[in-house]
Amino acid sequence: MSGGLFSKIVRGEIPADILYQDDLVTAFRDVHPQAPVHVLVVPNREIPTMADVAAEDEAVLGRLLLVASRIAADEGVAARGYRLIVNCREDGGQEVPHVHLHLLGGRPLGPMLARK
Ligand code: AMP
Repeated sequence: MSGGLFSKIVRGEIPADILYQDDLVTAFRDVHPQAPVHVLVVPNREIPTMADVAAEDEAVLGRLLLVASRIAADEGVAARGYRLIVNCREDGGQEVPHVHLHLLGGRPLGPMLARK
């Protein structure tokens, strides 16, 4: 059994504002939202980073995107648009070692990267 933070949320062992869960993925609100809508969609299985995915993860990776699209519609941000982000390892700024898709929307998000 995996012992990371997001695995504990997936299993309901620590509280989170869960919006959706199925056999492959779980979606919950980010505890420190960077936009009016900030939802994380995670695989139920603890894959550490995008650098660790394999061919067998194709279905779950597809499900992450499909669920993010549905939640964006449910949250009312699909018409104006939104951003999906997956940070990977140190240079990508990943803090939690469990793959997660950030869904951000509800305001203009500006340029993709901060200018140096
Ligand atoms: P990243 O930097 O891509 O690894 O993003 C990790 C995200 O997890 C951050 O946006 C955090 O605010 C969020 N986060 C950390 N702990 C929790 C938690 N207990 N519940 C919900 N979101 C969390």
